[in-house]
Amino acid sequence: MERKTFFADVIVPVSVPNLYTYRIPHELSGSVTEGQRVIIPFGKSKLYTGIIRRIHETPPSHYTAKYIETILDDHPVVHPVQLLFWEWVANYYIAHPGDVLNAALPSGLKLSSETKVVLFPEPATETLLTDSEFLVAEALRSKGELSMQEIAAVTGSKSNYALIRSMREKKVICLVEEIKDRFKAKTESRVRFRDEFRNENRLGELLNNLEKKAPKQVDLLLDMIRRSGISSAQEREVTRSELNDISALPALVKKGVLEVYEVEVGRFRPTRASDKEKTLSDKQCAAFEELSQSLLRQRVSLLHGVTSSGKTEIYTRFIRETLDAGKQVLYLIPEIAITTQLLERLLKYFGEAVGVYHSRFNENERVEIWNTVLHFTGKCAPGGPYAPFSMIIGARSSLFLPWKDLGLIIIDEEHDASFKQQDPSPRYHARDAAIFMASLFDAKVILGSATPSIESYRNASEGKYGLVSLEERHGGTALPHIHVVDLKKEWKEKTMKGHFSPQLLEGIRLAVSNGEQVILFQNRRGFAPVLECQWCGWRPVCTQCDVSMVYHKTSHQLRCHYCGATSAMPASCHACGDTHLKLKGFGTEQIEEELNLYLPGLCISRMDLDTTRSRQAHFQLVKDFEDGKIQVLVGTQMITKGLDFEHVSLVGIMDADGLLGFPDFRAHERAFQLMEQVAGRAGRRLQRGNVIIQSRNPDHPVIRCVTKHDYLSMFREELSQRIQLGFPPETRLIEILLLHRDLATLEGASAAFAEMLREPLGKRVLGPEFPIIPRVRNYYRKKILIRIETGASVSEIKNRVRKIILRFREDPAYRPVQVQTDVDPY
Ligand code: ADP
Ligand code: ZN
Ligand code: ZN
Repeated sequence: MERKTFFADVIVPVSVPNLYTYRIPHELSGSVTEGQRVIIPFGKSKLYTGIIRRIHETPPSHYTAKYIETILDDHPVVHPVQLLFWEWVANYYIAHPGDVLNAALPSGLKLSSETKVVLFPEPATETLLTDSEFLVAEALRSKGELSMQEIAAVTGSKSNYALIRSMREKKVICLVEEIKDRFKAKTESRVRFRDEFRNENRLGELLNNLEKKAPKQVDLLLDMIRRSGISSAQEREVTRSELNDISALPALVKKGVLEVYEVEVGRFRPTRASDKEKTLSDKQCAAFEELSQSLLRQRVSLLHGVTSSGKTEIYTRFIRETLDAGKQVLYLIPEIAITTQLLERLLKYFGEAVGVYHSRFNENERVEIWNTVLHFTGKCAPGGPYAPFSMIIGARSSLFLPWKDLGLIIIDEEHDASFKQQDPSPRYHARDAAIFMASLFDAKVILGSATPSIESYRNASEGKYGLVSLEERHGGTALPHIHVVDLKKEWKEKTMKGHFSPQLLEGIRLAVSNGEQVILFQNRRGFAPVLECQWCGWRPVCTQCDVSMVYHKTSHQLRCHYCGATSAMPASCHACGDTHLKLKGFGTEQIEEELNLYLPGLCISRMDLDTTRSRQAHFQLVKDFEDGKIQVLVGTQMITKGLDFEHVSLVGIMDADGLLGFPDFRAHERAFQLMEQVAGRAGRRLQRGNVIIQSRNPDHPVIRCVTKHDYLSMFREELSQRIQLGFPPETRLIEILLLHRDLATLEGASAAFAEMLREPLGKRVLGPEFPIIPRVRNYYRKKILIRIETGASVSEIKNRVRKIILRFREDPAYRPVQVQTDVDPY
């Protein structure tokens, strides 16, 4: 009987528009399923890890299908629902399926191209090998490592998938990447009584016998009895390392009293839940009830609660409900807001149910979480213990975990721009993607913020989302008092010291002398943004990017914040030769230094990208500040996120104008959010805090709104502006960036591309024009904006755009031009 031939459409981890169809070897046809990882040949000689999207019997029409090389696991690494989600992301964000795959899978699961094999490190003793397998094993013994081509030479056969799979199953070989990246589970040694001695009489007898002869053994046994609570209701496992003195352990193991066993443990120490949730205040209770009601009616609800109103406590109730129902919870937070503070709080409430997934964690940790989430089983008793990692706290990439039965997504600080991925494609917004994903699971979504995005607040005020407000801080502490210092006046009266007004300096001095802490906010790192010739105005710019270099004092260097290039400080102007070069503008580094000069003797620390490169450094700074070791913390927007410090009584905003003057249609919204959030760090307990805003425009409408903590006025003003000017959320934007090293080629290509777009889309197409930074890393850039009015079919327009990009790429003259799409740019 003729055997059927099966084909698989595979998502390949390469930025190409389509899936590729591969032939499934007959030997494997029974064992492959959707969502499984496979090694596939791609291009001339590359091998990649791909994911099977679907299986069918239709050969591809334009090419001869290659064979799948091998299967990597026995079961899928994602559920079918993830494949649907990936498809949506690719479609919505005009991205390629391979881009989404790359964003989704941790690299520990992506065995990369040019796979090589080595002998298995702990070879099995007796294994029956076929002739070819034997040859390969022999070759490995002499050469150590073989590439796919070398294996082909050894076996004399081109297709060695079956052989590799079989040899991997027999644990004779493994892939090099598996060794390097192989997920090595951590184990821990634990000690327990053997069954015969889990009996009071036997133990008593033994202790009597040993008493005189072996006091060390007696001590150890007593220690074990105490720690394990043997045979009691509170019996628990004992780790070898927690025992007082293990010198007698070998003797007791030999006697068959104790045994040592290994247990796999996660890298996140399972902490037992140790705290009950706080009792909600009346206001919080009311908000909780309201939110519960609105979530019955609507999938998404916005919790608009002022800073420190207890939003986290309210989320906690919903988390508990969801976990009790045996479902999973995703708690999304902005990139750098993953603080020990939040973690410790949630660990106390939910113990081992909590996992953290973050790009700063290493691959092994990520793979471990991935697999635990993949194999989630929802069974649990109300109140816990819950399945491990049934709740994940994470930044945007945790959306892509292999969720199985998601019940709730919380998006804390939903307004935060770091939810949007800038590079590489897919340039997705985690909040928007999460709302779609929730619909796949019929899960609920809570958006929380003290300063919601204009988009979300509009959706809520128009009834698309539920809306619940919490207008009071927990404990009734008033929101901080805001004092605006008019810098124009201070400069004129020559009262400024460096970038500090006398009011701010006096405020800091006073706060510190009262034993309180101060936060100074400046949204620029480095010492000073730019060096400028006093005479002709020349500024050093990056040779690869058309942008001014930033001076970093500690390294006494100029650094490009776009490409990271550094250069030495020039001694004189490169244009006129004059030596009067002056630093203009100011960053966090300079503030730190000036403060040292004007208020000597303070303990000052700085928190920005430069001082928090490692996760540890960030945690340490937060801890030192909490412990009162730091009196003044100077920082970029990093300090606006999710931190809850008890003793901060003053917040200084060094340069409000720098925030307001940013050339972006969201500048006012952002400035309000940043100022209100950083102000929210002041006076979170008992005492009312103070905020000093320094500005040359003290009457700016946004500053006035901050002064009154008036979100609603800001929202109304901003929305009417956006409607008037045709910006989101009134319209939708798609930004297309074209890049090329040669300016003339780029100009020709981008003009042609804009024409192609204008054909169907007409006046919706704006540009091409240079973006703010016209050249980055030697690539010139041109931007085309597509503005889609309310009522037009966004998905239809996206389809058109996708087709036009393909057509544009078919022209050989344009092929080297890079095209980047950004839907809903941020
Ligand atoms: P938000 O998330 O709105 O900024 P948090 O949930 O962090 O607010 O609460 C701010 C502070 O007030 C936290 O330290 C929290 O422990 C405390 N808090 C909030 N609600 C309560 C409550 N009901 N009982 C006791 N403390 C509370
Ligand atoms: Zn540069
Ligand atoms: Zn000059």
